Amino acid sequence: MKQVKRRTWFCLVFTALLTLGILLFLARYFTIGGDWASFSANKHIYDKSGQLISGAVLDRTGTVLYDAASGAYSDDKIIRQATLHAVGDRAGNIATGARQAFSEQLSGFNPILGTTAGGHNVYLTLDADLNRTAYEALNGRKGAVGVYNYKTGELLCMVSTPTFDPENPPEIQDGDSRYEGVYLNRFLSATYTPGSVFKLVTTMAAIETLNDYESRTYTCTGSTEIGGQTITCPSAHGDMDIYGALANSCNCFYAQLAVEMGGKTMWQYAKKAGLLDSLSVSGISTAAGSFTAAAEGSADLGWSGVGQYNDLVNPCAMMTLCGTIANRGTQVPPRLLLKETTAAGLRTGHSRAEKHSGTLSSDTCALLASMMRRNVTEHYGQSSFGSLAVCAKSGTAEVGSDARPHSWFTGFVDDADHPLAFVVVVENGGSGASAAGSVAAKVLTAAAEAGY
Ligand SMILES: [Zn+2]
Repeated sequence: MKQVKRRTWFCLVFTALLTLGILLFLARYFTIGGDWASFSANKHIYDKSGQLISGAVLDRTGTVLYDAASGAYSDDKIIRQATLHAVGDRAGNIATGARQAFSEQLSGFNPILGTTAGGHNVYLTLDADLNRTAYEALNGRKGAVGVYNYKTGELLCMVSTPTFDPENPPEIQDGDSRYEGVYLNRFLSATYTPGSVFKLVTTMAAIETLNDYESRTYTCTGSTEIGGQTITCPSAHGDMDIYGALANSCNCFYAQLAVEMGGKTMWQYAKKAGLLDSLSVSGISTAAGSFTAAAEGSADLGWSGVGQYNDLVNPCAMMTLCGTIANRGTQVPPRLLLKETTAAGLRTGHSRAEKHSGTLSSDTCALLASMMRRNVTEHYGQSSFGSLAVCAKSGTAEVGSDARPHSWFTGFVDDADHPLAFVVVVENGGSGASAAGSVAAKVLTAAAEAGY
């Protein structure tokens, strides 16, 4: 009798463990089953060379960018080059491309049918023609272009150069400068010295921490002494208030502001602006920027306030900050995945706009917007933007005495009919307003013409 009892107990415990195991398996199967199915050893959806053979990547208009079943990219060479980083290459070197980042969606996995129902169509938020315009505007120079709808978060344009034709990948030798960092999507994964676009952050800090910022005047003589070193401007800017200082991009004025507010405050505002954090773009993590609070009263602290010293900013984060200013403080993070359908066109995946309200103060954003609008009307020139109410800031980031500076241009269109925020970086492009600014003008004009 005693032995039977012991056996019964043993069976009960065993059954309980088995049930627990099955439940655990099912829970994991439903939550991360897609990951297992899209693992590259799954012969149902990968061929012998490791190529995904199910699903397709399309742009927002339905243009096929990559068809996994036939293994073919777009039949337009320029589109292939302009969307390489968004789609990914055959060898899988571009880890942030849709082929890898969205392999679970492409595999068409669902918990009931597994991957037997065939791959899915993954629609990106991008417009391939807009990518072409940006790629052509970069005209062989290295850099990044991003444009997104700051109301919906949809990324309309995302180009990184250098690039190559994925149907005919080049053999890249070590140290070949033409292909330097070619597998990196510079928009998502690079950080650059921001130069004067960082003055948006210094301005934001001044508006919120200095009571008399509006009544201040300053006379720029072309240089100023801070911490025993000379901070210089390209020329003497003369008399101005904070509006004029931003439009002139006066280093002397902004370096003094940064020293007055202190390194801790400057760091806090870089953080608040979202420039020190990584964003998730439909699950793809962007590179986080950095800001070092230099010693109080030092020239380094002054330089950090004008986007030099150790400052580093990711282009996608800068574009998102401009979108938040456009939204008067509400951040709508950019996203790349528009929708997912079965091969027959049945919609399966959903992608909604996220909204983080109160990220920045709406009054501060309204003031920054008016200052950025004035930069365009009084400084960069409205003519290159047609009738678009562009608000912008340029940056010319020094990157060593021998190299030409990196050129930045970032901002947004202050118009509910064209809710576009943008960023352009042209590496070693020289002047921000002219090099990156003209790329931005071409892309924004094309975007507005296409109805975005
Ligand atoms: Zn100046």
